[in-house]
Amino acid sequence: MFSRETACVHSQQQDQGVNTPIYTSTANRYIGYDEILYPRNYNTGNQKLIVDKLCRLEEGEAGLLFSSGTAAISTVLFSFLKAGDHALFSKEIYGGTAKLILEEFPKYNIAFDFISNADMGEVASRIRENTKVIYTETPSNPLLSVVDLEAVGRVAKKHNLISIVDNTFATPIIQNPISLGIDIVVHSGTKYLGGHHDLCFGALVTSQKLNDIIYQSALNFGGSLNGLDCYLIERSLKTLALRVEKQSDNAMKMARALQENPAIEKVYYPGLETHPNHAVAASQMNGSFGGMLSFELKNAGQTETFLSRLQLIIPALSLGGVETTICQPSTSSHASLTEEERLEQGITGSLLRLSVGIEDVTDLIRDTEQAIS
Ligand SMILES: *Cc1c(COP(=O)(O)O)cnc(C)c1O
Repeated sequence: MFSRETACVHSQQQDQGVNTPIYTSTANRYIGYDEILYPRNYNTGNQKLIVDKLCRLEEGEAGLLFSSGTAAISTVLFSFLKAGDHALFSKEIYGGTAKLILEEFPKYNIAFDFISNADMGEVASRIRENTKVIYTETPSNPLLSVVDLEAVGRVAKKHNLISIVDNTFATPIIQNPISLGIDIVVHSGTKYLGGHHDLCFGALVTSQKLNDIIYQSALNFGGSLNGLDCYLIERSLKTLALRVEKQSDNAMKMARALQENPAIEKVYYPGLETHPNHAVAASQMNGSFGGMLSFELKNAGQTETFLSRLQLIIPALSLGGVETTICQPSTSSHASLTEEERLEQGITGSLLRLSVGIEDVTDLIRDTEQAIS
C-alpha cells in the first residue's frame, strides 16, 4: 500500500493518459450493461475515482461525492435519523450545519442536543434511549478546540450510536477519524480538498455497510456532483499533501510569531503547547496541526483597522485555499448568533480567524506586523 502523499498523486486509472478523461454523458446505453450509469447514481468513472482516492486517504471502504459539504452532511444525517429519534452535536460546529439542525430537524420531529467540546468527556450522560447519532468537528471553528475522537468512538460503539466527524479542518493528511474508531467522515471539499477557492463540493467516507444505507437516501436527495468538477478535484487532490503540509508548517510558525507579538492578546492553535487540548491533538493528528488558527488583538477597538491595513492577507470568507485569508467571525461566519451566544462560545469581537496559505511565511508575518504597527 502506498503512502498518503503517493495516493494523492496517483489514481487507479487504467487508461493511457495519466489523467482521467472527463465523462459528461447523462444518457448512457443500458442494454447489455448491469449498472445504470447516471450522475445521480453516483457511479460515473470520474466520481468513483475521487471516492476511491478519498477512501484510501481516510482509510474507509466506500464513500460518496456531493455538490457541497452541506449536501454530504444533510444526506448523512437524514439517512440515519427519523421522527422520534434524538441526535447529539458538538456546540462548536460549522454555522451552516447548526442552521440545518435548528431549522430542519423540528420539521421532522427529530430531537437534538448541543454539547460543548469542553464537556465531551461527559457525553455518555447525555445519551437517551432514542439517541441514534453523535456528530462532532475537530479542530473546531473558530477557536480550534480539539475533541478526543477515540473517546467519542468508544462511547458511540458502547451505546450503538452512529458517530460522524466533520474532518474539513484537519483534512485526511493530518487526521483520520475512521482509524480512531469513528464510523463516518464528512468533508466540505470546498475548503482544503479543493484548495484553490474555486470548487464547491462535499464528500463522505465510511464502511461499505453504512455507505449502502446512505446511498439509498443519497439517490432520493440527489445532491450529486458533475464530471467537470470531478476533474478539477482530481487535479486538486494531486497536491493535497503538499499544500496541507506547507499550510500547517506556515500556521505553526505564524502561531509562534503572533504569540510573541506584544499587541496580540491570545493565539488559538492546537500545535502550541499552551493550547488546552495540545496533548490530545498531538496524539490524534499526524504530527502537524493544520492551517487554521485564531487570535485576538489586545486593543479590540482596532480589529477593523487591522483588517483594512493588511496588504497581502485577504479578508475573505471560506478557508483552506492556497492564499492566506482572514475573517472576523463575530461579523461574518458567526454573525447570525447573538452577542451573548458568541461570548458563551468564547468568540469575542476582536477574534480573528486565519486560514494560512502556502505563501512565504516571512511575508505573511511581516504583513501582520505592519498592519499592527
Ligand atoms: C464550509 C464548511 C462546511 C459546509 O460546506 P459547503 O461546501 O459550504 O456546503 C461544513 N463544515 C465545515 C467545517 C466547513 O468549513
